[in-house]
Amino acid sequence: MQTKQTETFIKSFNINEETLAIFKRAANAPIENRKEIIDDIGLLTKSSGMSLALIALFRQQVGCGFVLADPLLANKDVPEREFQDPQINIAFRLQRNPYREMRRNHGLLIERGIIDGAVDTAGLVNRDAGGKACYLCKENIDLQNPKEILIKLNLGGAQYYAGANFAFITDNHFTVMNASHVPQHYRKGTIEAMMDFVDITAGVFKAIYNGLAGASIKDHEHLQVTTEDFPVENIAAGPARPVFENKDIKVLNPDYYLPVWIVEGLDKAKTNNAVHNIISLWINLNPDFHTINIITSKGVESGVFRAFIFLRDKRKLGGKGKRGAMATFEAGGNIILTCLHKEHANNHLNENLTLENANLPAITQMLKDISPDNASCKRFAEAIDFSG
Ligand SMILES: [Zn+2]
Repeated sequence: MQTKQTETFIKSFNINEETLAIFKRAANAPIENRKEIIDDIGLLTKSSGMSLALIALFRQQVGCGFVLADPLLANKDVPEREFQDPQINIAFRLQRNPYREMRRNHGLLIERGIIDGAVDTAGLVNRDAGGKACYLCKENIDLQNPKEILIKLNLGGAQYYAGANFAFITDNHFTVMNASHVPQHYRKGTIEAMMDFVDITAGVFKAIYNGLAGASIKDHEHLQVTTEDFPVENIAAGPARPVFENKDIKVLNPDYYLPVWIVEGLDKAKTNNAVHNIISLWINLNPDFHTINIITSKGVESGVFRAFIFLRDKRKLGGKGKRGAMATFEAGGNIILTCLHKEHANNHLNENLTLENANLPAITQMLKDISPDNASCKRFAEAIDFSG
């Protein structure tokens, strides 16, 4: 896990003694001090910006036991292997993460105090066809997640809440959920919310979105955000010139094992427009099956907004060696394996073996497995037009 030690990280913010004291007070507070924590988060946001406030909140949520383990200490539980791909300058990562599987174990979550087992479930709202109440509605979180603290954000003209991801993949991993119970359907507001998030966190956080390829909760719109880099962010642009470039935006389509389109620009609205055009074109080519994964970032020093758009097809969700769908983390070069059960070796896939036997060709094959068919990608590339 590529965790930056929090102390070093905090130093990079260049904060004064008083702010540091507030950070420590919030980060070390017991959950019983909920009101004081929220006040301190507000003070940190005002003095040093949203990113420091969110990092303080994440430390608090780790300390009070809401997050299943401390990402800064969890390395031995989360074995990771790295594979260099010198041709495209990417260091792919494979991670076996036990917490991802725990998030589906309702009994264990009750035992760990993440879910209150004694709650009157009659008060829960927005149930799915199976009767399970939505995990991302604030009403339900307030009722059944006694240790969770949500921070209200205004992104892309809509209200969202950020809450620490208790089954974290990376350090400072949050879920950012729409304040309304609206489905996970890409719309222009999605990219606007993502870019607003990397903007208000001054590039310290990245934002990702799983279209209907990898999102495990499809009934409630949400993003994920983290302070860690995605391997694909280092991709070498290759010999090819940008597909399109004017004074405001640059569009690249570098060689990768899965079709990826990159849009870069200093002007947020113009960058968003170009991203939205690309995504709409892909989806409209085959609305029944085409979907996307997105990663957005903002250069801490350059201020350049970047979006990585991965073209996906709902019929090609799985990669050989991994259970379940490949999602944005995987598309971005960070493959998360979860299945730990030896007994699964016979009738299911044992992902321990995937980790043990991994090599660069196996990883690149997983990305090729989820690539949409060549004909569609070609039609898309031919249809792309930025002249309007
Ligand atoms: Zn909901």
